[in-house]
Amino acid sequence: MHYDAIIIGAGMSGLASGIRLAYFDRQVLLVERHEVYGGLNSFYTLAGRRFDVGLHALTNYVPPGVKSAPLPKLLRQLRIDRSALHLCGQLGSEIRFPQKRLRFDNDFALLRQEVAEGFPQQADSFDRLVADIRAYDDLSLSTPRRSTRQVLCTYLTDPLLMDMLLCPLMYYGNAEEDDMDFTQFVTMFKSIFLEGLSRPRDGVRVILKTLVKKFRQCGGTLRTRCGVERLETDRHRVTGVRLESGETLTADAILSSAGLVETMQLCSDSPEPPPEAEIGRLSFTESISCLDTTPAALGLDSTIIFFNDAPRFVYRRPEDLVDTRSGVICCPNNFEEHDHLPEGILRVTSLANHDRWLELNDEAYAAAKREAYRATLDRASKFVPEFRPRTVFSDFFTPRTIRRFTGHLGGAVYGSPAKVRDGRTRLKNLFICGTDQGFLGIVGAMLSGISMANLHVLQDG
Ligand SMILES: Cc1cc2nc3c(=O)[nH]c(=O)nc-3n(C[C@H](O)[C@H](O)[C@H](O)COP(=O)(O)OP(=O)(O)OC[C@H]3O[C@@H](n4cnc5c(N)ncnc54)[C@H](O)[C@@H]3O)c2cc1C
Repeated sequence: MHYDAIIIGAGMSGLASGIRLAYFDRQVLLVERHEVYGGLNSFYTLAGRRFDVGLHALTNYVPPGVKSAPLPKLLRQLRIDRSALHLCGQLGSEIRFPQKRLRFDNDFALLRQEVAEGFPQQADSFDRLVADIRAYDDLSLSTPRRSTRQVLCTYLTDPLLMDMLLCPLMYYGNAEEDDMDFTQFVTMFKSIFLEGLSRPRDGVRVILKTLVKKFRQCGGTLRTRCGVERLETDRHRVTGVRLESGETLTADAILSSAGLVETMQLCSDSPEPPPEAEIGRLSFTESISCLDTTPAALGLDSTIIFFNDAPRFVYRRPEDLVDTRSGVICCPNNFEEHDHLPEGILRVTSLANHDRWLELNDEAYAAAKREAYRATLDRASKFVPEFRPRTVFSDFFTPRTIRRFTGHLGGAVYGSPAKVRDGRTRLKNLFICGTDQGFLGIVGAMLSGISMANLHVLQDG
């Protein structure tokens, strides 16, 4: 069977590009290896409880009525009415380091005031940095990489403030160890600090179901449990898409959200093994604790706490299974209009070493999960009121889970550090969308899917 486009992966980017193409009457097939769509941001049910795989928050929140920001623009491109998502703003978040705390919410004035009070010597330089960030074109696909740490040094002199700003932006969207591409820093700064955080009232399911419904309404075909085993190539083009079932399909264009290295490894003429430097090294564990009370009743009002408990903030793959010195604590209850959640929930994310988790046998893996859960919560408890005795159920996922459900080598949530901003590969009709194109997070992935569909199929075709 021949299609105008085949899209590999029904995560946020694959679904968004599929909608764009199907809306403009392209014959599109979206293939997903797993039974459930959603990729890194899917959902599951365990012991009668409904969980989102990873959702903490949707970035890029702007109030209803604002039209010229990434979120409303992408919803317009997808022809999705914002009210379908029922977005609820955060109550307020914080960055907590041993020496200082910075609060922020969906009004940037709070962070500005916190920086001015906590770092009075840096206030003017911070304002200059923010003015330049506002003017920066972070959507350009051709800006060369620049070190954020070096750029920040041209504005700020206090390493503590630099670390505090980097901590949330790295945790929510950086594939590099220790440093960050400045364009990516700007994107994350705008989407978290200048815009803001929200959560759909009914979690990630509502986003995914809205996307799938729209895709099908536009005439697209979604096949789940349909993995791509190999891309047949003639050195210049993909000539066939071979599925795990043995079936072979053809298409004018192939958009892959499986990751850069992972996609190139599917090609019949790809060298083995993949280049080490292109495999992402950043992976995470996440604990989910369900409580018999709400976080607010325990005195915890923050939506998200980005914490660091070490002299300097270290963002790199740990030697050990998990590095609990820094992390992210998220309370889904602490968004507006979230009284309906049946239990209190606390999620804690930590940096983890994918290879160490993968080398464990099943028994050692189960024991390591219990120990990492305990260590993670011990550390998190330094930053929030004691909640552990109120836990009625818990779950814990590791880089091994991420690897299994996404296929990302290295369990790399943010993919390869080598991004292909224009989505092109050495094969003329194969394009990368999603994480490894360089727009990260849920909103970023959808923007990526839309822009790659526009650029490589709708404009070219
Ligand atoms: C724990 C966790 C928490 C997160 N929390 C947030 C958050 O709160 N807010 C936020 O904005 N972002 C968050 N993210 C990041 C966000 O989920 C991702 O950036 C985004 O979903 C990536 O979407 P994607 O479409 O690029 O890729 P993916 O979601 O990785 O989708 C790729 C899809 O391709 C499929 N696939 C791979 N290989 C094949 C193949 N050979 N054949 C067929 N299908 C294949 C995979 O199964 C997968 O479904 C989180 C991520 C994690 C892991």
